[in-house]
Amino acid sequence: MAHCLTTYCGVRTRQLVSDIVTEIAAIVGEARLLTGNAVAERVTSFWNDAPMQGIALALPQTTEHVAAILRCCNARNQTVVTQGGLTNCVAAAEPGSSDVVLSLEKMNRIVEIDAVGSTAVVEAGAILQNVQEAVAAEGLRFPLDLGARGSCTIGGNIATNAGGINVLRYGMMRNLVLGLEAVLADGTVISSMNRMMKNNAGYDVKQLFIGTEGTLGVVTQAVLRLFPQPASQHCALVAIENFDSVTNFLLRLQQQMADSLSAFEIMWGDYYQAVTGEGGHRAPLSRDYPFYVVFEVEGSDSGSDARRFEGVLEQALADKLIVDAVIPKSAAESRDIWNIREEFDAVLEPEPVYLYDVSLPLRAMEDYVARVKANVAARWPDGQCYTFGHMADGNLHFFVAPNEQGNFHNESDKCVYEPLTAVGGSVSAEHGIGTDKMKWLSHSRSEAEIDLMRLLKQSLDPKNLLNPGRVLGVSL
Ligand SMILES: Cc1cc2nc3c(=O)[nH]c(=O)nc-3n(C[C@H](O)[C@H](O)[C@H](O)COP(=O)(O)OP(=O)(O)OC[C@H]3O[C@@H](n4cnc5c(N)ncnc54)[C@H](O)[C@@H]3O)c2cc1C
Repeated sequence: MAHCLTTYCGVRTRQLVSDIVTEIAAIVGEARLLTGNAVAERVTSFWNDAPMQGIALALPQTTEHVAAILRCCNARNQTVVTQGGLTNCVAAAEPGSSDVVLSLEKMNRIVEIDAVGSTAVVEAGAILQNVQEAVAAEGLRFPLDLGARGSCTIGGNIATNAGGINVLRYGMMRNLVLGLEAVLADGTVISSMNRMMKNNAGYDVKQLFIGTEGTLGVVTQAVLRLFPQPASQHCALVAIENFDSVTNFLLRLQQQMADSLSAFEIMWGDYYQAVTGEGGHRAPLSRDYPFYVVFEVEGSDSGSDARRFEGVLEQALADKLIVDAVIPKSAAESRDIWNIREEFDAVLEPEPVYLYDVSLPLRAMEDYVARVKANVAARWPDGQCYTFGHMADGNLHFFVAPNEQGNFHNESDKCVYEPLTAVGGSVSAEHGIGTDKMKWLSHSRSEAEIDLMRLLKQSLDPKNLLNPGRVLGVSL
């Protein structure tokens, strides 16, 4: 199958741009359409503080606004880049100078929380942390959780099929969305606001918009799955002497804590040392160990859960699976431990620094990481390769820091991705492809899979106007 679309827009005439701006202003109101400096005053993303580009930035307030904007853009072959909280790690929502930017930030209402049905209806621009807090106030839990919780949006979480720290117990975003509403490139509204766990009536169309990075439609609302708040939550930071003990400790927890284990996050010693260095986080454990794990267990009986948790840790220490441990005594201490894992400012300087998000089988992990580190050391003798991640999901992150001025993205990619093929890994566990990883997609997906992706894109967005150049490239 070979599809070639030629409608990816380049330079637009002044008149056309002016018509589009006028029409979108009439849809959303002048106050909710930014142009010129008002666009450039915004930063491009969490990772890129260059001024935002784009011919205009629209702030719709309703699904009807989104549909009308997309109809207008479709009629004029105008490309559109959709934005949520701009925290994605693959340059997926960075507009070019000829794009219309569609930000969902004003569509941020929590429409309904149904405690009996364990569902919440939220608009796509709702910030994840606000959703978590609103349902917690009703004694419920929305378990998607990640370091960007204070900025990322439900629409962005859906579009990226976000993962985070609780995937082990609750699954990725795909498992947490019961229904959604989305608008297609031509302005058609697809309402699939299912609230039930089971619905096999034909194709499950919501899946078209989950993990497809805004290339097939703009998500405007969703029905989320909620869970009871656990009665107890216990976490610990432990130090471990070797990788075999890390995997054995994980197996031990999975056996003894059954499905109450909700998080198991690994940090290689180099990452822990860097983020607990001068001016960084306080180090609750010595900084000399090769591996550290933060893990969390949830339960339904606070008294017996605590005894069981401490018992399992004591036994792991006695068996030398772990060599040191710290159990936080308050929510603040617990937050401090999680911050070591989640706040990594210390490794982001000096630039450039490249972030990776791979997944691979656990049994191949130790050798694969050694290979990547060796590749980085061979290319940049003064460089660093910090390693951490959601280990129980087979998901690792690297920050590759060449410690040298220049653009080394491609070389750094090779250090990380080339050894992945042999172990059957994926170039994206949870961040997606965006524009950053497009040329590596074929390392993780077959030609037939990519052809099918193209076919879907061509069917739903034949003019290639939604987030063009993401995932599949500029021409289809
Ligand atoms: C500190 C930090 C920690 C992170 N940790 C994790 C982690 O543990 N796990 C993880 O998975 N990710 C993580 N991320 C990445 C990021 O937070 C997620 O990818 C998140 O889901 C992006 O949401 P967003 O609202 O910021 O989306 P954006 O960055 O704005 O957009 C992401 C993509 O979704 C599209 N999009 C946004 N909104 C919509 C919509 N309404 N309809 C259609 N398409 C849309 C955009 O066009 C773009 O392609 C982390 C990021 C940071 C900065």
